[in-house]
Amino acid sequence: MLYNLETKEYYVVRAKAVVITTGGFGRLHIQGFPTTNHYGATADGVVMAYRAGVGLQDLDSTQYHPTGAIYPEQNVGLLITEKVRGLGAQLLNTEGEQFCFPLEPRDVESACVIRECMETGKGILTPTGRHGVWLDSPMIDMLHGEGTVRKELPAKYIQFKRYDIDISKVPMLIYPTLHYQNGGIRINEWAETTVKGLYSAGEVAGGVHGRNRLMGNSLLDVLVFGRRAGLRAAEYMKSVKTPAKLTLGHVDKFNKEIEKAGIDNGIETPLLLPNYAPDHVRARQIS
Ligand SMILES: Cc1cc2nc3c(=O)[nH]c(=O)nc-3n(C[C@H](O)[C@H](O)[C@H](O)COP(=O)(O)OP(=O)(O)OC[C@H]3O[C@@H](n4cnc5c(N)ncnc54)[C@H](O)[C@@H]3O)c2cc1C
Repeated sequence: MLYNLETKEYYVVRAKAVVITTGGFGRLHIQGFPTTNHYGATADGVVMAYRAGVGLQDLDSTQYHPTGAIYPEQNVGLLITEKVRGLGAQLLNTEGEQFCFPLEPRDVESACVIRECMETGKGILTPTGRHGVWLDSPMIDMLHGEGTVRKELPAKYIQFKRYDIDISKVPMLIYPTLHYQNGGIRINEWAETTVKGLYSAGEVAGGVHGRNRLMGNSLLDVLVFGRRAGLRAAEYMKSVKTPAKLTLGHVDKFNKEIEKAGIDNGIETPLLLPNYAPDHVRARQIS
């Protein structure tokens, strides 16, 4: 089913096979964390699959990347690549202590940072009232020679220089950021779901990496299972007749369920992107 933004009408597309590839759910900000994910990462595919009766798995398992920027405010949640630690930068607390071996897997590293900030009280309070620890990027130039940060990490250098912070001279402030959806739509090795004709691939599909993905292999999984889903969907389409007449009954059913649950979020049309407007601005939008 598609939605026409101009006419504000739904219309039904007769699809014999469907492949859901809507990506992760970082924009749900689980546990209130910032995220590295783009604004479209709102779990739509998981919800659609669930409502179609598809099995899901490991939805309680999310990956927090240990080094998300936490200052300045405009950078909050943005990814600071593992390459920074790979080049020799250390995580340090407010006393300058190295509290964690810097090349642990993401979950261990994230847990160390959270503990340092929330339990031992040795985190750093940022000027905007958030907690974080130092990632001492100047160490990279000390180890490998002046100019290495600019040469090896140009995107990160620019990302901070924009706010007059030179990360080759001063350390970054970081905190874990919601990065990857480990669980999702249950698929088999051919990207088939438990509903015939419905396939899924990429981050929205759960379980390919178990409950904890290692860095760097999501793009591999996207290609492998994307291809497999496409192949199987094409085969399936050749083997079935055009489906019977489709209806919008499921939209009515959804609306009735929302009403029965007493949910009135004031949203009249589908929301393409999350609304990040502060409460006082939203109040004006609604009135
Ligand atoms: C900053 C960052 C760096 C990363 N670096 C790496 C890396 O180095 N190596 C690695 O392996 N992995 C990396 N990852 C993870 C990897 O990039 C993602 O897991 C992967 O791109 C997911 O691909 P996808 O096609 O499943 O989803 P996406 O690339 O997220 O694409 C999903 C698309 O579906 C659209 N969509 C969502 N809902 C709807 C809807 N209702 N209707 C229509 N369209 C919709 C979205 O807008 C989006 O365009 C990184 C992730 C991030 C955020």
